[in-house]
Amino acid sequence: MKYDVVVVGAGPVGSTAARHAALNGAKVLLLEEHASIGSPVGCTGLLSTRAVAECELKPSDDFVFNSVRGAFVHAPDGQCLPIDGKQTKAYVVSRKNFDRALAVMAVEEGVELSLRTRAVGLEKTNPETSKEGKKREEQKSSQIKLRVLRNGKPETICTSAIIGADGVKSQIASYAGLGKPARVLPGIQIEAPYASDNSDFVELFPGSFAPGFFAWTVPVDEKISRIGLALEPGLAWKDRQEESSPLSYLKKFLHSNPHVKAKYSGGMLDFVIGGIPIGPQEKAVSDGVLLVGDAAGQTKPTSGGGIYPGAFAAKIAGKVAAKAALEGDTSAKQLSEYDQLWRKSLGKELEIGLKIHDYIGKLDDRQFNDLIGSLNTPSILNTITEYGDMDHPSILMKKLMFSRNSLRLMKAFGTFLRTLF
Ligand SMILES: Cc1cc2nc3c(=O)[nH]c(=O)nc-3n(C[C@H](O)[C@H](O)[C@H](O)COP(=O)(O)OP(=O)(O)OC[C@H]3O[C@@H](n4cnc5c(N)ncnc54)[C@H](O)[C@@H]3O)c2cc1C
Repeated sequence: MKYDVVVVGAGPVGSTAARHAALNGAKVLLLEEHASIGSPVGCTGLLSTRAVAECELKPSDDFVFNSVRGAFVHAPDGQCLPIDGKQTKAYVVSRKNFDRALAVMAVEEGVELSLRTRAVGLEKTNPETSKEGKKREEQKSSQIKLRVLRNGKPETICTSAIIGADGVKSQIASYAGLGKPARVLPGIQIEAPYASDNSDFVELFPGSFAPGFFAWTVPVDEKISRIGLALEPGLAWKDRQEESSPLSYLKKFLHSNPHVKAKYSGGMLDFVIGGIPIGPQEKAVSDGVLLVGDAAGQTKPTSGGGIYPGAFAAKIAGKVAAKAALEGDTSAKQLSEYDQLWRKSLGKELEIGLKIHDYIGKLDDRQFNDLIGSLNTPSILNTITEYGDMDHPSILMKKLMFSRNSLRLMKAFGTFLRTLF
């Protein structure tokens, strides 16, 4: 079988890329190594309203468990910063059902979906190296032979372009010589009985419970929350001892944080581990190959959220790959249009997010107490309500920098805020 575009990985980003390649006229195959879509889950499933809209899905009971409108940020010393967005800002979803809805939409556009099909290698046949090189000289399309194991049996699939949407451990990135995301935060989470103060709010816990990132509780309803954390390995995991593993940090968070301990009833209903890539790949294209989503490191370094930026980039990747395949030129030069377009829209935000991530990650508990205390004024809270945006934290940072409405904030963090822009 010969396809214009093969998408490897039927996560939310792969399904979106496949659908957009099909919408642009390509014959598309979507591969998933697992026997079912959306499983296993490696996610909290907190999606901004914008992320759901970017996936072109209407929020529905089919995948939405809960809606949230704000966050309680808990400082290490126990003070709490209440951030109220005043309206629904995000949904708590079933990732399984969400991923399935996106896969269905792809299939409805004519995408062929193949489960239990793992990509295990690829060979590119460039015009220069092709036996019939001369004949194909004008046709700059790399023909790719993708080696797969379908139901355990080896097969070869021919395609003009491959979209690697195979997640943080992307093999397609390695096969294409693009390398893997350089920085990956280990994340761990349970779903468990937890008596929320208010299930319209998530809870965030920066500080030494989760060095380099933060811990969270995300309410599925009033009685159950997803409780987890991610860590910066360089800060938390230096000696790789048992007592500094993500699991040990989670246990400590559950049993030693006074706020969480009082609300967590013990046990778990679900357990999730996964890696969060921090910082985008330097290059997301090579001859015949485009990377998208976690495979390209397109997650927000401030929150670890990857659905919004991944879906945004997936639509561009699908369109560019389809156009290139149909025009017979899938050279890296032609595909670099994708790299330029997604970076033009998301690059600056991810760059600023990375600076915020690195700065925040180095604060100690005392500095977090000071930062959270300095934000806890009516005027700053109003600014946060008005300009806080999960997907574009730079908007709020700019407002805070120019508002000058807290001398304490500017004294402690003004120098850093100025380095962002
Ligand atoms: C603990 C944790 C919590 C998170 N919470 C959130 C959150 O609340 N909100 C948010 O927006 N993001 C969150 N993220 C990030 C989010 O999960 C990812 O950004 C998102 O899943 C990326 O989607 P993707 O389609 O690029 O990759 P994935 O969802 O990882 O999908 C990749 C797919 O490729 C398949 N695959 C891999 N290799 C192959 C192969 N060789 N052949 C065939 N198929 C293959 C996999 O089976 C998988 O189905 C979280 C991440 C972690 C670890």
